Amino acid sequence: MKLFSCTACGHLAYFENTRCTHCGKTLGFLPGQLRLVALEPDNNLWRISHSDDPRRWRTCQNQLQHNVCNWMLDSEENDAFCLACRLNRTIPDLSIAGNLQLWRKLETEKRRLVYSLLRLNLKIQPLGESPEGLAFDFLADQPTFNERGRVLTGHAQGVITLNISEADPVLREKMRSEMAEPYRTVLGHFRHESGHFYWDRLIRDSNALESWRSLFGDERLDYSQALNNHYTQGPPGDWPERFVSAYAASHPWEDWAETWAHFLHIVDTLETAHQFGLRTAPPNGDEENLSLDEPLNAYHEPDFNKVFDHWLALTIALNSLNRSMGHDHAYPFVLTETIKQKLAFVHAQVRYAGSE
Ligand SMILES: [Zn+2]
Ligand SMILES: [Zn+2]
Ligand SMILES: [Zn+2]
Repeated sequence: MKLFSCTACGHLAYFENTRCTHCGKTLGFLPGQLRLVALEPDNNLWRISHSDDPRRWRTCQNQLQHNVCNWMLDSEENDAFCLACRLNRTIPDLSIAGNLQLWRKLETEKRRLVYSLLRLNLKIQPLGESPEGLAFDFLADQPTFNERGRVLTGHAQGVITLNISEADPVLREKMRSEMAEPYRTVLGHFRHESGHFYWDRLIRDSNALESWRSLFGDERLDYSQALNNHYTQGPPGDWPERFVSAYAASHPWEDWAETWAHFLHIVDTLETAHQFGLRTAPPNGDEENLSLDEPLNAYHEPDFNKVFDHWLALTIALNSLNRSMGHDHAYPFVLTETIKQKLAFVHAQVRYAGSE
């Protein structure tokens, strides 16, 4: 994630901020420019503070109504909702106590996903506006038993469903420990499910499918049987050699989605680190090649080896910092040569799609 500052006073500002903590100006994010800007009211609209930009901006309807979104719309656009919010097909029932807070958390993390997709120049449009588009259903389990049972997080035909209980830290931690996962976050879910979405768009009907299969396996394997086997028998003993997570070993689609999610973790976290000027010593002592004096543009670096080496160096530092604070490792994963090849495949596909 890029580092933002208030365009009025220059004070550091975060992606989620709606107000500058220093000068008090209203802040809004312009998705078309990937910029956070300070705003001045102007006849029911907003203009960018300290700028002669003639454009005027509108607040997203989800902000006006529910205070959950800091993205702005160009006043020339006819939509009431920003690009990220137009991806919502179903939002939780806000008459139920607590749902607004859970939903707000989901929206915050969803915008981080959309930021990455825009940054990678991947096609992203609402399913309501294009059959190739994406939609989100944010659903809650029924309070009383019903035939439909639990809401399962997943992707099907352009729709990503997320159980809003994932935004509840207590329930998420319970799930994480029950499923013996080292890492479970809302943003991780979004990144994983977007992997399924882009598999349909970038791989399924492309001539990359055969080389994809040679790395990830044959996706025609019975999916529900494969998941069932995973949950009853567990992953193969040698999974850490070949898969980024135990769950990735369940089916080639899950392997892809897990690898895709890691690719997004990597480029976005590297961007954040480099924006702060973090410089880490590489594990192999080859400090020259990894010097962060020359900032790496992780989202657009053509050489995946470079991204990967920077990432290994950063994760060692990140994990050590976390341990110093008494926390578990921030990135509890081991990336083998096989996993690196899969990540490089994601990188190549993303670059190809982003250049179209
Ligand atoms: Zn300010
Ligand atoms: Zn919005
Ligand atoms: Zn999945």
